[in-house]
Amino acid sequence: APVKPLLEVKNLQGWYGESHVLHGINFAVGEGEVITLLGRNGAGKTTTMKAVMGILAKRTGSVTFEGNELIKLPARKIAKAGIAYCPEERGIFSSLSVQENLMLPPKVREGGLSLDTIFELFPNLKERLSSQGTKLSGGEQQMLAIARILRTGAKTLLLDEPTEGLAPVIVQQIGRTIAKLKSQGFTIVLVEQNFRFAASVADRHYIVEQGRVVDTIQNAELDANIDKLHRYLGV
Ligand code: ATP
Repeated sequence: APVKPLLEVKNLQGWYGESHVLHGINFAVGEGEVITLLGRNGAGKTTTMKAVMGILAKRTGSVTFEGNELIKLPARKIAKAGIAYCPEERGIFSSLSVQENLMLPPKVREGGLSLDTIFELFPNLKERLSSQGTKLSGGEQQMLAIARILRTGAKTLLLDEPTEGLAPVIVQQIGRTIAKLKSQGFTIVLVEQNFRFAASVADRHYIVEQGRVVDTIQNAELDANIDKLHRYLGV
């Protein structure tokens, strides 16, 4: 675990109505680190992100960011603290152009990326600036979804399965983008089922099973733990 966590989650529990689905999520990420939450379908990874962001209404435990406790704050204030969330469904507005989508998010902090910087990271988006959201490929939509949260100025990003359903060459592009963001000091929590992709970008992996973090594996030790990982992921 990082010496000085930027975002630290301790004994996070969460419910959908009466249904108790998170039973003890623990992880920590330091500034400039990339970590993943790995686990099978239904393990609770997406719910963890929603709970951190305050979108899941009923939650307990502790989520500290830059030393401040967020667990009781509404979603709006958590976003304002500088954490951005890119959901699995991406949330691109199909009737709006790429440019309009990029203009949507409110700035939460200074230092949101300019359009020029966005286009350096995502050259394809520049060519598609006036295209409608619906006309984009899955990969372009994912790039747009990431680009959009970079506009806000948040430097801590929660990305839910950014590679899902994308072709290998696009997955590689997203991997390079994540590496670039990391080198620029962004802190990233990634939900993944593709552990090969996870291994190519992350410093550390947290295994989620039935609403709990049951193990932590350093990326450098992944090869030595590959059998264990296969068992966790059921692959
Ligand atoms: P996936 O990769 O399928 O998204 P996940 O690890 O992200 O898996 P979650 O989506 O967080 O898993 O789901 C955790 C548990 O909560 C599952 O048992 C799921 O059925 C349940 N669940 C998810 N969303 C809801 C909801 N809106 N209402 C009730 N239960 C839900």
